[in-house]
Amino acid sequence: MKAGVLALQGDFREHARMLAACGATPVLVRHPEELDDVQALCIPGGESTSIAKLAVAYGLVEPIRVRARAGMPVFGTCAGMILLANRLDEDVPLLSLIDIEVRRNAYGRQVDSFEAEVQVTDVGPVRASFIRAPVVTAVGADVDVLAEHEGVPVLVRQRNVLAASFHPELAGDPRLHELALSLGN
Ligand code: GLN
Repeated sequence: MKAGVLALQGDFREHARMLAACGATPVLVRHPEELDDVQALCIPGGESTSIAKLAVAYGLVEPIRVRARAGMPVFGTCAGMILLANRLDEDVPLLSLIDIEVRRNAYGRQVDSFEAEVQVTDVGPVRASFIRAPVVTAVGADVDVLAEHEGVPVLVRQRNVLAASFHPELAGDPRLHELALSLGN
C-alpha cells in the first residue's frame, strides 16, 4: 500500500520511516496530484501555522478534505492534530476533519516538552513524547478517546481520522501507524 505524508514542513521523514516499518510504501505529498496515488495520509508534527499556510498555497486543503471524507485514513500528530481539528481557541481551523477543540501550546512553559507512558485502547502502553503539544479541550459525541494523559484526551479518533497530541513517529514504535492504516478497512 502507498501511504502519503504531507511533506511541507515538520517531521515528515520520521512519519515516512514509521510507514515503511509498517510495510507500506511512503510517498511524500507536496502537490495535489501526489494525493491521488496514496491510500492514507499522515500529517506531521511541526509548526501548524507554517504547514497551514503552505497547504493553502499548494492547493492541498480541499483535495485532502475530499479524500478524507471519502474514507482515506488520515493520521495527524501534534501540529497535524491542530490542522485536523474543527475548533481552535484562537485560529481558524484548516481541515475540520475531526470534531475536537484544541488549544495550541497549552501544556504550559515548564512542561512544554515531556515524555509519558499512555495507555492506548486495544494497543496497550505507548511511550509518548509531547513537544509544545496542543491540549484537547473538548471532544464531540462521535469522537472516540483512545488514550488520555492526566484526564486529558491525547489520542482521538473519528471514523477514519486519527489524531495524537504527541509524536508516535519519534518513538520508533509503529503500532499507532499500523492502527491508522487499518482505519480504511
Ligand atoms: N506547537 C506547535 C504548533 O502549535 C506544535 C508542536 C509540534 O508539532 N511538536 O503548531
